Amino acid sequence: MGGSFLIVYYLLSVSFSLPIPSIAIASTDADLAQPSFIPINRDLYHSSDALIEQIKSLVHRHPDKLTVETIRAGNKGYKSEITVVTYCHSRKDSDDKSKFRILLSFGQHGRELITSELALRILSILSEEQFLPKMDRASLNSTLENVVVKVVPMENLNGRKLVEAGNLCERRNGRGVILIGIGDYDPYEENPGIAPFSEPETQIMRKLAVSFDPHIWINVHSGMEALFMPYDHKNRTPDGLPSQQMRLLLEELNNVHCHNRCMIGSGGGSVGYLAHGTATDYMYDVVRVPMPFTFEIYGDSTATTKDCFKMFNPVDHTTFKRVLNDWAAAFFTIFKLEPRQIDVQSKAHKVDKWVSIDDYFDA
Ligand SMILES: [Zn+2]
Repeated sequence: MGGSFLIVYYLLSVSFSLPIPSIAIASTDADLAQPSFIPINRDLYHSSDALIEQIKSLVHRHPDKLTVETIRAGNKGYKSEITVVTYCHSRKDSDDKSKFRILLSFGQHGRELITSELALRILSILSEEQFLPKMDRASLNSTLENVVVKVVPMENLNGRKLVEAGNLCERRNGRGVILIGIGDYDPYEENPGIAPFSEPETQIMRKLAVSFDPHIWINVHSGMEALFMPYDHKNRTPDGLPSQQMRLLLEELNNVHCHNRCMIGSGGGSVGYLAHGTATDYMYDVVRVPMPFTFEIYGDSTATTKDCFKMFNPVDHTTFKRVLNDWAAAFFTIFKLEPRQIDVQSKAHKVDKWVSIDDYFDA
C-alpha cells in the first residue's frame, strides 16, 4: 500500500469517514518499512519501560496521594496491559463519588511519544515533586481536594514498542489495528478492528471509563495543535449548555496556554472529514461524559511524511520543555475548574438514556 492507497482513502473520506488525527499528517503502511530521517532523541524521551518504571516509583514515593494498577486483557493470543495511576489529595477518598472526576489518556498512538512524557510531567506536578512556573500552590491544593484524576500514561504499550523498535510511523496496536478511541471500529478505516471493542486496549479503556464515570475525559494526541470537542462523526458541535461550556473552556485554553494557535471545535467540523466510532463521541453519547475532548498538543507540519518522530514530537530541548510546560499548565487549568461550572445535572439525567453499544455503532 502506498500512494495509490492514499488516493482511494481520500475518495472514501468524502462520503465516509476517517479517524483522528487527520489525513494531512497521516502516513500509510508503506512508511513503516522506511527509515525515518530523525531517530528518537533518547536524551529527551524515556523508553516505554523506563517511563512506566519512573511513574511506578513516583507512586511509591507518594502513597498518600497516588495509587497505581495494571489492567490486563487479551483475546485470540493477543495480550495487552494498561497502567492506570489515580491521584486523590487524600487517598482514602478516591472512591468518593461526590468528587469531580477526570480521566486522561495518553499514548493511544505509539508514535506520539511526547504525550506520555506529558503524562509523567502532570503526575510529577500532582505529587509536588515538580512545579509549574507561576503556579500558586496553596490555591491549587485547595481545589485539588475536590478532584480525583485517573491517568493512563501509555494506552498502547504494544504499539509503542513497535515504534521504539524502529517503526517510527507506527500508530497501530501490537496486532495492526488502529485505535481511534474507545470505539475502535470503523469499517472504512484503513485497519479497522474486526468488530467494535475487538481490541483489548479499547476493552480496558471502556471498562475504566464506565466504572470511573468521569465528568471530563481527555484523549491526548500529537500531530497538530488542536482542541476538539464532540462530534467527530458530525460536522457540528452538540446543542445546549454543556456544549457551550465546552467551547468556552477550549477558548480559554487556547488563549492562555496554546498561544491562539490551536484549532477549536468539533472534530468532524474542524478536520475536514467525519470519523465514526471515535472515543470522544462514544464517551459523549454512550458513557455520557459531560465533557469529552481530544487534545492535539504538538505537530511539525514541515516534516516530511516519513519523518514521523519529527512530525509528532519536539526534537530539540527548548521545544520539548515549552510543550510540556504549556500543556501541563493547561491541564492544571482544567483541574481547577469548579464542578459547578459543568452541568453535572445533565450527567445525572442522561444516565437513564443509556444506549447499547450496538445501537450506537448501528446509528
Ligand atoms: Zn494520535
